[in-house]
Amino acid sequence: MASYDASDPQPGVIIAGGGVAGSLAARRLAESGTPVTVLDPAPPFPPDPERRGALYMKPAVDYTPETRFAHQAFLAASGFYTYLQTQHPEIDFWSPTGTLSLAWNQREQQRQQKLLARNQWDPEFLEPVDSDRASLLSGLELEVPGLWFPGGGHIRVDALRQAALSHPMIRTITATADGNRIQASADSWRVALPEGETLEASTLIVATGAQTTEWASDLPLGRIRGQLTTLPAPSSTPRVALAGAGYALPPFSGRLCVGATFDRDSDLETPDDPSDQANIENLSHWLPTLADQLEGSRESGHWVGFRSTTPDHMPVAGQLNGRFVLAGLGGKGLMYAPLLAAHLAAQVSGTPSPLPADTAQRVSPQRFARS
Ligand SMILES: Cc1cc2nc3c(=O)[nH]c(=O)nc-3n(C[C@H](O)[C@H](O)[C@H](O)COP(=O)(O)OP(=O)(O)OC[C@H]3O[C@@H](n4cnc5c(N)ncnc54)[C@H](O)[C@@H]3O)c2cc1C
Repeated sequence: MASYDASDPQPGVIIAGGGVAGSLAARRLAESGTPVTVLDPAPPFPPDPERRGALYMKPAVDYTPETRFAHQAFLAASGFYTYLQTQHPEIDFWSPTGTLSLAWNQREQQRQQKLLARNQWDPEFLEPVDSDRASLLSGLELEVPGLWFPGGGHIRVDALRQAALSHPMIRTITATADGNRIQASADSWRVALPEGETLEASTLIVATGAQTTEWASDLPLGRIRGQLTTLPAPSSTPRVALAGAGYALPPFSGRLCVGATFDRDSDLETPDDPSDQANIENLSHWLPTLADQLEGSRESGHWVGFRSTTPDHMPVAGQLNGRFVLAGLGGKGLMYAPLLAAHLAAQVSGTPSPLPADTAQRVSPQRFARS
């Protein structure tokens, strides 16, 4: 591996944004020998323990191109998190508990039956379970069947970012990259930092999540606020990640996590009580056995963020107008990011992408330029 001086101001790649996508892209590039500088005003040092999420998937009834992509992404994420966790045993971010997707109402039950009837699934990826098996797996008394994803699990998201960025070829700078202060020349990008330093690199990746709207007026990106809620674990708690009309995650450090809200019309960047109440209220519809135990529970914790969205619900990963963009991961970034990071790293280094050509086109930012 090439040696890299962490103070070197001439990185091969600059990544604006060290969130889920940016940190994993940095890691993929670093592991292929490319020096990377990541700029983020809120790096995960120390990680926020309240920011948590699930590796879950909701396959469509038919094996659509979108489901084929999600299937590949899910397997890639499960494998990559297991690999990264073994590289950084001191940073506990990945709990490979499996994920149980509950057929919590009649509509979801019918949907799951159809997708089982129409497709042959590898049981190592997805297996139907009746309510007895669902109860046994989850540790909760459940009266509904579901789909069991043994490769799923739950994640401390900032700890994942920290693990991904912990590589000698990655330099992380606590700074906001100002899109207006980035200069492009024929073969390089110059990024002026607030403290006067200027970074120069041959490649720029914009991975600024929901803030990418400020950078990329050439892309039809939107954003949706979300809040998750953590609570002291009651006596009977899930052993696996549970998905239904939201998700419920097993306790970590004595706190379980339920979420998350989808607030299309809110720009509120701080947590609020109505969102916590909405999470508990929602849980009472799809997982009443847990919601009942949380009634009157106080000392809630929270995490608020904004999802970056696209009109066709597919993420954006590829080159547009010279720079690379990795955004639009919606509410599935923990599933999509490892595969898209590998795809982007391959594009940057000119090596074969893990994505089939038609999927690469479906996620390319060029699809919006064409329409
Ligand atoms: C409440 C909530 C719960 C969620 N739960 C799940 C879940 O269970 N499973 C799942 O798969 N997904 C979940 N998601 C979605 C997931 O968090 C996103 O898909 C994922 O974070 C997208 O990664 P990203 O890197 O694009 O964005 P982010 O992770 O948001 O990272 C963007 C980064 O860019 C930085 N940044 C912004 N502007 C600049 C700038 N100008 N210069 C430098 N840096 C900048 C920010 O500080 C941030 O660190 C959830 C989202 C929310 C809001």
